[in-house]
Parts: sequence; structure tokens; C-alpha cells
Amino acid sequence: MHNALMDTYKRLPITFVRGEGAWLWDTNNNRYLDALSGIAVCGLGHAHPDITQALCQQASTLIHTSNLYGIPLQEELAALLTKISGMDKVFFANSGAEANEAALKLARLYGRKRGYKIPTVVVMEGSFHGRTLATLTATGNRKVQAGFEPLVQGFIRVPYGDITSLNNLATGNNEIVAVMVEPIQGEGGINIPNNDYLPQIRDLCNRQDWLLITDEIQTGLGRTGRMFAYQHHGIIPDIVTIAKSLGNGVPIGACLATGQAATLFEPGSHGSTFGGNLLACRAALTVLTVLERDNLVERSANSGSSILTELQQRLANQPGVVTIRGRGLMIGIELVKPCAELVTTALDSKLLINVTAERVIRLLPPLIMDATQIQFLVATLSGLIERFLSSN
Ligand SMILES: *Cc1c(COP(=O)(O)O)cnc(C)c1O
Repeated sequence: MHNALMDTYKRLPITFVRGEGAWLWDTNNNRYLDALSGIAVCGLGHAHPDITQALCQQASTLIHTSNLYGIPLQEELAALLTKISGMDKVFFANSGAEANEAALKLARLYGRKRGYKIPTVVVMEGSFHGRTLATLTATGNRKVQAGFEPLVQGFIRVPYGDITSLNNLATGNNEIVAVMVEPIQGEGGINIPNNDYLPQIRDLCNRQDWLLITDEIQTGLGRTGRMFAYQHHGIIPDIVTIAKSLGNGVPIGACLATGQAATLFEPGSHGSTFGGNLLACRAALTVLTVLERDNLVERSANSGSSILTELQQRLANQPGVVTIRGRGLMIGIELVKPCAELVTTALDSKLLINVTAERVIRLLPPLIMDATQIQFLVATLSGLIERFLSSN
């Protein structure tokens, strides 16, 4: 068959046709353990019965009207999200990049109110914020930007985890309005800054009247063992973006804001045809209900620490392992050499993993993963890593 798809993804030679919890089945009925969750999307696992039922019921009632009309499910979801996050207001979009676009537009309006000509957002090296023009500009990876110049104006970049560089910007002659940061960098290689990094940024933003935007698109909704990763640090951002796991696979993103940032949009400033439609909101409400009902955030913290400890024990004598780091079910194993081929060898062992930043094995297992599945993951993966490091 002629491949009519644009060449944006180098796909693995495998196709899944069915899922159940942390398991996926391919076209030959082989079963795989999914330790990636569709890149942090299917936190409740595949074909979760509550999601299936809610979607079927909603699809047979009403999928979409328009933001021209009242949408009680959207209001209900916004109320729940503000309650669990400490934010005041929510804008719904359909993806992570769009949630970040909304955040960046809020930052621009915030700067405009101050009379700034080029409202500037501080972003980090190694960050990932999406593939739209503004969010790829915010992204700290040249590969994501190359070819798409001219990039968007109004961004300054500093090293991630380095509060001194950020503090130095405060004395400079610039029009900074916001700092945009991932609490843990995902695509960048599961980079976990010091525990005082976010509180220090919060302090700086308070002193300078800058908005603190945390991109929780990968870390959010229980992934790191707290509902939001900033909750590990006792701080509240001004703007929080979420997406990936919010709909368990149904596309939905959200930009949450508090304080002045929550008041900047007015009718006509921003919008989305699909954003927050009934089907997506029903999915997200069900996700939040199940997270709470089944204590999945706590489970993520516990499962994550047992995976981390066991991997650290099994791989303790491997000089080729630089570090094994993680928080909750967001785990990275950094090796001394590029290891993209491990994705394929893991596939042969019926395990789905990811490699990012060339040398970092990334695990983002579903929050519902059970003890037996954890054992399979740890045993299979540590065996694969040992073999990989002892060959060539
Ligand atoms: C995935 C991701 C995005 C982009 O989300 P899309 O839904 O692919 O647009 C933005 N920020 C972070 C931290 C992400 O992990």
C-alpha cells in the first residue's frame, strides 16, 4: 500500500490492536507490557472499563456542541481541576502544545498591561514544550527548531536547574514577564532539579512580579506521585499546563491560572473549536474520579519507589549505568552510551520502553501497574541493560 502519511515519525515495525490495563496485543496476538503508556497518556491503562463506559454513554448522548453554548461538563471539570491544583480558572484546549500556547498568550497579555514592547518568557535548556511555532521556540532542543526559522520573539534561555543564571536575569535590562519550566524534564531526559529549585524560582518570580508557568503536561495528574509535581515543593505556580494523561487517550489539554493571570483573557482573546467538548470533558472527569477513587496517585508514588529501588539494586555493579533517577512513575536510566537500540531489543522481550536524549531509558508506566507487572518490568529491563552494556 502507498504510504500516504507525511514522514514525521520513524515508526517501529509493530502494530497494536487491543489493550487491557498495562497489556497490549499486536497483530499476531503477542502480548506486551506497556511501560510507556502512549508517552504518559494512558495513566489508567488501556480499555479502562470506567473510561469505556463513560465514553460510550457520552457518545450516545452528545459529543460536541460548541463553546458558543453552555457546557456543564466543562464547568464541572474546571471546578474540579481548580480544586485539586489551587488555581482559579481554566481554559480547555486539545493538546499540550495548545495548552502552552494559551499560557504564553497569557504571559504576553500580562506584559502588554505593563507597556512592554517585547514581553519575554524565560525558558530552559533541554526543555520540551511542543511543536507549534511558539512552543518549539520555547523548546530547548535545536533539532525541534531547525528549519522553522524565523522563530518567535520574546524568549530567553538559561540552563535548567541553575538558579544563579535566572537570578542574574533579574538585574538585566529586559522585559521579562514569566518563567516557563517543567518540574522534571521529560523529553529532555528525566532531569530532576534540586528540591529547592522550584521554590527559588517562585521566590524570584514573587520579587520580580514574573509569572511562574509550570508545564505539567508530562508530570501532571499523579505521574510523579503527587497530583501535580509542584506539590512536592509546597509552591503554587501562576499558570499550570496539563494535557497528556488528562483524557487517558481522548485529546484534551488545559491551561490553569490563578491571580492576575486568571483574569487576562476576555471574550475574543482566545478560543478553540473543539476545546473542552462534552466527550473530552467526560473522559477527563472520569480520569480524575478514578485517580481519586482508586488512590492511584499514592500508588504511583509507591510503585515508582519500588521500581527505582529494585533497578538500583540489580544494576548497582554496572559501571555503564550513570544514574537511575525518578519520582513516582517517571523514571530515567542514564547510560554512558547511546542506547536507542534498546527499544527494539525490549520489543523482542515483549516490553515497551522509550529512549530519550540519546542515552536515557525512559519509563512512564501506567499508574495501575500491579506488582507482578512491576517484577516483569524490572527483571526484563535490567537483563536487557546488562546484556547491552556487556556487548560491544
Ligand atoms: C508532550 C509534551 C508537550 C506537548 O504536548 P502535545 O500534546 O504533544 O502538543 C509539552 N510539554 C511537555 C512537558 C510534554 O511532555
